[in-house]
Amino acid sequence: MIPFVNLIAQRAAYKTELEQAEKAVLDSGCFVGGPIITEFEKKLENFCGIKHALTCGSGTEALTIALMALGVSCEDEVIVPDFTFIAPAECVAGLGAKPVFADIDPETLQISTKSVQALITPKTRGIIAVDLFGQCAPYKALREIAMQNHLWILEDAAQAFGAKVHTNEGARYACTFGDIAITSFYPSKPLGCYGDGGALFTNNDEYAAKIRQIANHGSSKHYLHEIIGLNSRLDALQAAILQVKMNHFEAELAIRQKNAQKYDEFFADLHGIRPQKIAEGNTSTYAQYTLLVDNRNDFIAKLDQAQIPYCIHYPMALHQQPCFGNVSNRNSAEEASNKALSLPVCAFTDVDFIINQMRQIL
Ligand SMILES: *Cc1c(COP(=O)(O)O)cnc(C)c1O
Repeated sequence: MIPFVNLIAQRAAYKTELEQAEKAVLDSGCFVGGPIITEFEKKLENFCGIKHALTCGSGTEALTIALMALGVSCEDEVIVPDFTFIAPAECVAGLGAKPVFADIDPETLQISTKSVQALITPKTRGIIAVDLFGQCAPYKALREIAMQNHLWILEDAAQAFGAKVHTNEGARYACTFGDIAITSFYPSKPLGCYGDGGALFTNNDEYAAKIRQIANHGSSKHYLHEIIGLNSRLDALQAAILQVKMNHFEAELAIRQKNAQKYDEFFADLHGIRPQKIAEGNTSTYAQYTLLVDNRNDFIAKLDQAQIPYCIHYPMALHQQPCFGNVSNRNSAEEASNKALSLPVCAFTDVDFIINQMRQIL
């Protein structure tokens, strides 16, 4: 069976480099913090073109830390997209605040700015925008709404580290659009480590200091704890692995994009199946290559028969989840959850083979 994300082939391709880097950390006796973390954070800053990159324990922890740094508390409302992984809504609720679910654009599947506008109340503090499946959310319009209503934007780029938006002023990378942005280094993300890992990004010095303090037990001076924080950090070993993978990252993204283009061409002629629309100016990382399939069950039966792996990202809108009350409201997020299906697209996937198999069954 073809793996959905081929981490084994990726490791084989960079094996010598990875083993050298891993051994150096293990022999150094320095496993938490240290020069390799500082070096990796610099590398992230240079890559994105941002002032501060701060590593932490996971994408989910990064979201919680960001919300704490932004001062979210009980009674506050935070607008989150209704169609995404649960983490953004979960972290808002975890701090006692209320996630308010915005509908999505039925074509790009990104948060709908019209829906955001309609949900703003006096209690709204900010917007979490998710760069879903690897393309950036509509930040130009979101920023206008945020400015008019004195809201912050938290960019969840867990799936989109390396994505670009091309504007008249040139290209700008994901993780630079939010007042604070986050990403995840979970193994199957476009840039993944061998366990959990994450990072926060900001151009704001005060937020950066606050983030460091919160992630370090609310302390900015040894054994002095000014506020209640938590413990969240990236291991040195993971940073070393990520540094190696970063050397190959742009090349991998180019292959992902080529793979996606091959799928686009194949599905262009098929009725009842359309790929997630990539908005003008956006370059996706294709964390997932996602299709909207009118008759998904039939399509799945055929994929099973041809032994082609797939994932359903995501089988329900967030408002349908039991923890959020499970009420149906028949919006575009629900429709997407009934039609969405993702195919393997990573740099070590033989997309020509998969397309050939599909040609015989579709
Ligand atoms: C993966 C993901 C997260 C969480 O990242 P972890 O590192 O797994 O905690 C958050 N948001 C989105 C959109 C994700 O895809």
